[in-house]
Amino acid sequence: ALFEAKMQGKNRLQQYDVQWEQKTLALTGRLKAIKKALLNEEFVLFYQPKVNMAKGTVLGVEALIRWQPPSGELMPPNMFLPAIQDHPLEVELGDWVIHTAVAQAEAWHEQGLSLEVSVNVTSLQILQHDFVSKLKSELEAHPGISPRFLQIEILESSALHDLNKVSRVMRQCRELGVRFALDDFGTGFSSLSYLKHLPASVLKIDQSFVRNMLDDSDDLSIISGVVGMSQAFGLQVLAEGIETEEHGELLLRLGCECGQGYGIARPMKAGDLHSWVSHWQAPNTWKVQKPVEFHNLPL
Ligand code: C2E
Ligand code: MG
Ligand code: MG
Ligand code: MG
Repeated sequence: ALFEAKMQGKNRLQQYDVQWEQKTLALTGRLKAIKKALLNEEFVLFYQPKVNMAKGTVLGVEALIRWQPPSGELMPPNMFLPAIQDHPLEVELGDWVIHTAVAQAEAWHEQGLSLEVSVNVTSLQILQHDFVSKLKSELEAHPGISPRFLQIEILESSALHDLNKVSRVMRQCRELGVRFALDDFGTGFSSLSYLKHLPASVLKIDQSFVRNMLDDSDDLSIISGVVGMSQAFGLQVLAEGIETEEHGELLLRLGCECGQGYGIARPMKAGDLHSWVSHWQAPNTWKVQKPVEFHNLPL
């Protein structure tokens, strides 16, 4: 019996080794493919509009990365970003995103389209010793755009992970004129005390709360709470994942004027922005909404 158990143990170990090897091989394969894709310029940024729903104005866009292999379908970030997590490529690709978004913002400004552009960064990226100096050179290389038109989005959870270091970098970026948004806000452990330490300008309400707000009063309460926090700290609040007119209507009644989502516009190619901006109109139900007291909401 002992012998059998040993054999089983060994088999298990072998099986485990094979799986580990396959996983590692697949990962290095993907890493190589992504490295090559970066060299071959197969990555592209799509841009999703952010609007002020009450005023019916366009605030700017969020840059969202996609992989377009020469033959094959457009790939969303969750299909390739996990493969480069914690690898130097994460920083390289992040640099490319900032470079491309700043250049695009400058081009739009020169064409008379004043859009604020936000980019997503990871904590690995922002905690590189040369993050701020690289950002500074990037901005200097594009004098046609003022730094205040660049916004950096960092996940609330990443900012919390290394609060002191991250807030120091955020402060240095702010000195350059660049603003910060806390992304997927509400999914971390939001507390008033840590917000005090983070020099953020915008809270982005996570789309999971917006998705369920029409029939889940807990999510409605969270949104209402985040709006209250943003007001208390003098921050802008923006809701993600607005898919319907009703979402926007309810958000406006909760006092959240800014938003983005498929119901406003899907992420699009840079070249499509001009036409979208000149045609977009907020629905009539979004105009002159007066925020109502939370407890008066029909739910
Ligand atoms: P995120 O920054 O929270 O971006 C919002 C995501 O929600 C985007 O997905 C966007 O296309 C999607 N979205 C927008 N409106 C709606 C809506 O109404 N309904 C639904 N269901 N989804 C909506 P995407 O482009 O697939 O990006 C997913 C995540 O990948 C982003 O979440 C961000 O965390 C990350 N990501 C995207 N681009 C970059 C990048 O350049 N660098 C880094 N580090 N991360 C990125
Ligand atoms: Mg984002
Ligand atoms: Mg988000
Ligand atoms: Mg997200």
